[in-house]
Amino acid sequence: MNARLAKCVRCGQNYPLEILYTCPKCGGILDIQYDYNKVTELPGVPGHPGTRVGTSDAGNGSTIISQECDNRRNARFRELGSFQQTSTSRGLGIWEYSQLLPLEDLSHAVSLGEGQTPLIKCMKLGNHIGINNFYVKDETREPTGSFKDRPMAVAVSKARELRVETIVIASSGNAGASAAAYAARAGMRCFVFAPAVVPVGKLTQARMYGAKVVLVEGHYSNAYHLAFTVAKRRKWLNVTTTHLSPYPTEGDKTLAYEICEQMGWQVPDWVLIPIGAGPLLTGMYKGFAEYLNLGLIPTLPKLVGVQAVGCAPIVRAFEEGATTVRAWDAPKTVASGVSDPLVGYEQDGELTLERVRRSGGVAVSVTDEEILDAAVNLGNYEGIFSEPTGAVSVAGAAKLASRGIIRPSDTVVSVVTGAGLKETPVYTRIMGKLKAVPADITEVDGLIDSL
Ligand SMILES: *Cc1c(COP(=O)(O)O)cnc(C)c1O
Ligand SMILES: [Zn+2]
Repeated sequence: MNARLAKCVRCGQNYPLEILYTCPKCGGILDIQYDYNKVTELPGVPGHPGTRVGTSDAGNGSTIISQECDNRRNARFRELGSFQQTSTSRGLGIWEYSQLLPLEDLSHAVSLGEGQTPLIKCMKLGNHIGINNFYVKDETREPTGSFKDRPMAVAVSKARELRVETIVIASSGNAGASAAAYAARAGMRCFVFAPAVVPVGKLTQARMYGAKVVLVEGHYSNAYHLAFTVAKRRKWLNVTTTHLSPYPTEGDKTLAYEICEQMGWQVPDWVLIPIGAGPLLTGMYKGFAEYLNLGLIPTLPKLVGVQAVGCAPIVRAFEEGATTVRAWDAPKTVASGVSDPLVGYEQDGELTLERVRRSGGVAVSVTDEEILDAAVNLGNYEGIFSEPTGAVSVAGAAKLASRGIIRPSDTVVSVVTGAGLKETPVYTRIMGKLKAVPADITEVDGLIDSL
C-alpha cells in the first residue's frame, strides 16, 4: 500500500490508517497521504505497465505490452479475492487505481463493478447551451445508480479490512443505497439515517439491499447529527460521505483519473460538479492535483461547484468573497441529493470553497426550473436519464455559458451524478399523467394527431 497516514489539514497532526474521523486533537478534516514515488502502475498512462493504451492491437510491439497488461490485470483480478471478484469488460473499475487507494490488501476490496463509466460527447446539448466541446461523465451507470458507489466501495472495503461489523450512514438517499449494497456484499449490517424528504425510490432501494432505514424529520443535518451520536454510542462505523471520514473521498478521486484518461490527457477547461458539502469536488480536486504532481497532466481544470438556489451556503460564501461558510436556514429544492444546510459542520463547506478557488473555478447556483430543464434536455437531446440532482451540473454549465464565463470554445465536462429511475415521480409530474385510449384505430389516430 502506498497510503502512509492521515494528516489533519488544519493542525498537521498525523494518524495511522485505522478507524478515523475528524482530527481528535483539533477537529480538522483528515487527508490521506501517499508515497507518490512508489506509484508504478496506473491505467492508461504510457510507460506504466498497467496501461490500457497498449491493449489496442497496433503492431510494433504493442501486442507485447498488451500481453503484459493482461497478465498484470489478471494477477490483480486474482488478488481481489474470489468472492469479491466482479469482472467487467471495462477492467477492474476503480480498483485499477489501487496504488492510489488506501487499502492495505486488495483482497479486502468489496466490488460491484464500480467506476469506468462513459465520458459522452454531447453535440446537440452542447449546441443548445452554447458550448462546442461539451461532455457528460455519466455516473448514472454505476452499480446502484449514482457516483456514491466510488466513495462507498472504498469506505466499505476499508471497513472490511478493519474488521467492522456494522456501518451507519446519514444520507440524502444515494449514499445510503450505495452503503447498503456494499454492506450486503461484505456481510455487514447497515443503518441508514435519512431526512424525510428523501425520494422514496432511494429508500426502497436501500431496504432491498437489507439496510435498516431510520427516517428523521427535518433537513439532512438532523439525520447527520443523529447518525453521529448513534455511531459513537454503539461503536458502529460511521461512513457518512461529508468530510467526516477521510476514506470515502479517496474513492471520489477516481472520477478525476478517468476523465484525464478518457480525454486523452487533454485537461478540460472546466469540470462542473453538483455539491452538497462537497467531498466529491474536493476528492476530484485531489485526483487532478495528484495527476498534476505525477507529471501526467500539465494543469488543473477549473472546478465549478454547483448548488441549488434553495440551498446554496457555499455559493453564498463564494459570492460574498468570504472564506467562512454559514449554515443555510431552510433548504428547499428539487435537488434533494445536494440539499445539505451544513449545520454544525460548516468547515466541510469551507474546504470545498477553498478547493474551488484554488482551482481557479467558481461556485454558482441554479433554480429548480433550470435543473428540471437541464434534466429534460439530457434525456431529449442525448438519451441520458438523470435524477434532478445529477442535472445540476448541466444547468450550471448552461448558466455560466449564458453569462459568458464559459466561452463557446471551452472544453467542458459536467458530472451527471445520479440516475433518473430513482425519481420518476418528479418527472411524471412534469410530463403529465397518461390516459389509456380505447383499443380502436380511429381513437389512436386521433390521439397521435394531438400529440
Ligand atoms: C451526494 C450527491 C451529490 C453531492 O455530493 P457531495 O460530494 O456529498 O457534496 C451530487 N449528486 C448526487 C446525485 C448525490 O447523490
Ligand atoms: Zn488537527
